[in-house]
Amino acid sequence: MTLYIVATPIGNLKDISERAREVLSNVPVVLSEDTRRTKILIAYLGLNPRLISYHQHTSPARIGAILDLLTKHDVALVTDAGTPGINDPGGKLVSAAIEHYGEQLRIVPIPGPCALAAAASVSGFPMDEFTFLGFPPHKKGRQSFFNQIAVTAGSVIFYESPHRIAKALAALAEREPERLALVARELTKQFETLYRGSVSSLSAHLSSNPPPGEYVVVVAPRGYRE
Ligand code: SAM
Repeated sequence: MTLYIVATPIGNLKDISERAREVLSNVPVVLSEDTRRTKILIAYLGLNPRLISYHQHTSPARIGAILDLLTKHDVALVTDAGTPGINDPGGKLVSAAIEHYGEQLRIVPIPGPCALAAAASVSGFPMDEFTFLGFPPHKKGRQSFFNQIAVTAGSVIFYESPHRIAKALAALAEREPERLALVARELTKQFETLYRGSVSSLSAHLSSNPPPGEYVVVVAPRGYRE
């Protein structure tokens, strides 16, 4: 009885690993956060497993039914993109599976792409230690999110949507205009772009009509200079 937690590409299908390919071709059922996106991946791999939707709004009763499947055969979980459990509903399923089956269940990670790791890897900032904060809250807690970054001495990584990236950079620039950062857009995709500089220059550059796409922001340690 095994639950495989499978990382999938964050944009470039060629980033699928050999192990991910093997697991997805061997399990009869794949749990998928976004079945449309997973269909593209499994078509690319030439596979045809049964897809079952699992997302943040999946009810506890449905999660129970999903867990029951594990008594019949192995199951793989993939989320929207990247590594399940990193800012997506993957962790909730793993936690429910541990609670339900304890030691009886093998939970096996199949590591691979992850947007925060990809952005960190090209930042050039010290990454022996860093803080990952997920997405900035839209309203309540937003000020304290950016205040927390300003008092964090080490590198900080967060995710942001294209509609809000300009606001996020402005919030950073209000507090610490000279702090360095990397804004990584559309990693592994056709329009991959890395913007580097002080947060005030990045804010000025991306303030009007930032290009569409997915974004990761890596903020350098306070006082860090290249
Ligand atoms: N579990 C995923 C992972 O391992 O990276 C993250 C899921 S989170 C819901 C999705 C966010 O990750 C996006 O809104 C964006 O901030 C970031 N992201 C995902 N793919 C990306 C890419 N190709 N380039 C830049 N950021 C990306």
